[in-house]
Amino acid sequence: MVTTNLLNYDGKGLANFCAEIGEKPFRAKQLLRWIHQSGITDFVDMSDLAKGLREKLSALAVIESPQIISDYVAADGTRKWLLSVGAGNGIETVFIPEANRGTLCVSSQVGCALACTFCSTGKQGFNRNLTVAEIIGQLWIANKTLKADPKDVATDINRVVSNVVMMGMGEPLANFDNVVMALDLMLDDHAYGLSRRRVTVSTSGLVPAIDRLRERCPVALAVSYHAPNDTLRDQLVPINKKYPIKELLAACQRYLSAAPRDFITFEYVMLDGVNDSVAHARELIKLVQDTPCKFNLIPFNSFPGSDFKRSTSDAVRIFRDVLMQAGFVTTVRKTRGDDIAAACGQLAGQVRDKTRRSTYVKVEAVK
Ligand code: SAH
Ligand code: SF4
Repeated sequence: MVTTNLLNYDGKGLANFCAEIGEKPFRAKQLLRWIHQSGITDFVDMSDLAKGLREKLSALAVIESPQIISDYVAADGTRKWLLSVGAGNGIETVFIPEANRGTLCVSSQVGCALACTFCSTGKQGFNRNLTVAEIIGQLWIANKTLKADPKDVATDINRVVSNVVMMGMGEPLANFDNVVMALDLMLDDHAYGLSRRRVTVSTSGLVPAIDRLRERCPVALAVSYHAPNDTLRDQLVPINKKYPIKELLAACQRYLSAAPRDFITFEYVMLDGVNDSVAHARELIKLVQDTPCKFNLIPFNSFPGSDFKRSTSDAVRIFRDVLMQAGFVTTVRKTRGDDIAAACGQLAGQVRDKTRRSTYVKVEAVK
């Protein structure tokens, strides 16, 4: 018999499922809490459900997340899980602990079709979209592991996930329906209860999908900008040929009418000698003058086979100063989890033996 994986349902989906099996819709809320807040996988343990219902659920349904293949902690406390999603495919999820928050970087696809030239995931090509269970399963696993494992490595701060960024492998807006259902669960008070400001979708600029997200589930938006003109952006972010900068900026303006923050975050990867000069910064300022935004500069992270070099720290500092002097709030992303290849753009996800074992700690007891 085919069983239903309840991790694939948001609140509405669970209510429908309850109706289908002859149960009251409010059971969905109880189920959400058991599944997502308690992390329980065995219906028998759901003590406030009638015995008959527990038996029915055991026969009809499962709660199945991706399998953990490896779990590594970097010297700075960054933690990376490699998860199997079947057929030899792996995805990566990264937890970044900071003084006042814990951010989980979540993947949305196996590989990515958009082929940005500086991105390891893009080099891999596209394999498939992740299901809702595989997307929300990353948060489910991270919460469960972090709560169950208070002792471990490198940091003594509160490590429960407080923020989610859809900045792992894949283009979230190219897997729109599943990503939005997973976002619904992140925001649902009976599941993870995160505010819309604490959940960020990062996109390379799929204009129609930015508009759909605005209508359906306006969370914080980050846009991968990376170049101050169409000629260069066409080369770095090929989707720009379809949705050029002018259209992208217009979509950002529209998004702001519904956004939980009053600015868009523009991500800008700093590539040595490619997009990192003062002239580039000035060109950028002219373009975004009318768009309320912040900049996040990301020093390029290299990966095997990459064609680019990271900008020098002087170039990054000067670029930042030019933007700041023009009145734009600008941050430089700290490179975290370097020693476990967990930094932006390094996620590859193949299920393979990782080398460099001496530089990280493998967490042995995965519960
Ligand atoms: N597909 C989405 C989200 C995933 S990538 C997007 O492109 O926005 C998250 C961020 O990491 C993006 O801004 C992306 O451009 C950036 N990135 C990709 N490869 C990188 C690399 N090698 N070094 C630094 N940043 C990188
Ligand atoms: Fe895909 Fe984002 Fe990588 Fe571009 S940067 S290839 S959109 S994951």
